Amino acid sequence: MSWVGYKVHLTESCDEGFPHLITNVHTTAATATDVKQLAAIQQRLAASGALPAEQLADASYVCGSNLVSSHARRIDLIGPAYKDNTWQAKADEGFDVANFRIDWEKKVVSCPEGRQSIRWSETKTARGRSMIHVDFSSDDCTACPSRSSCTRAKDLPRTLTLQPKEEHEAIQFARKRQKTEEFASLYSRRAGIEGTVSQGVRAFGLRQARYRGLKKTHLQELATATAVNVRRIANWLNDIPAAATRRSRLMALAQAS
Ligand code: SF4
Repeated sequence: MSWVGYKVHLTESCDEGFPHLITNVHTTAATATDVKQLAAIQQRLAASGALPAEQLADASYVCGSNLVSSHARRIDLIGPAYKDNTWQAKADEGFDVANFRIDWEKKVVSCPEGRQSIRWSETKTARGRSMIHVDFSSDDCTACPSRSSCTRAKDLPRTLTLQPKEEHEAIQFARKRQKTEEFASLYSRRAGIEGTVSQGVRAFGLRQARYRGLKKTHLQELATATAVNVRRIANWLNDIPAAATRRSRLMALAQAS
């Protein structure tokens, strides 16, 4: 219902055979959205020479622009892309945006029935994001035999809203990839960070800010991350294995069935 205080974004390494070390601590007001923090996190990682080739991230950090900007930094951002929540995507045979062929050069979209769009309008949202609105012809859509799979509008033709080319293609690629076993296997390594947050909270009091203000809270979190790293390095040097990520009873039950 509400957010109070601060939020910490932790990044850690997850190379097999090495201790998993926290490589960045990013502190914000609790109300700041995760998706807006990725660029600053990557800049700090770059400045400290710890920029990864692959970055496993929670869904809240994944959006078209972050996929594109990560790619520009030579980072493969790996995380669940937001779902297409249109009814067409949810329906078994609905025509969602992935069913349309887009000619970005000519600014024309072809629908699954082979009809071409008649209008392509580039606009900005209230937040300044570029969007493209595409309209199909009334004549085509009214007479279309597949209309019920394409639009629920009573009389109006099908329309589409697209992100700019690079973002659109990045999201489409991410949505396809996240259905693969390779993605599931790779992404499972992100589970370690949940254990790190748990360790920070349970062993080092990470959930309680001991001082007032963002800077002091950040300093406390840096100290906590340092303590976590020192303990992990000591354990690794002494051949003490890291604890396995715990599975909830519900998860264990789901995997057993
Ligand atoms: S309703 Fe219009 S856009 Fe949709 S498939 Fe038919 S002709 Fe194409």
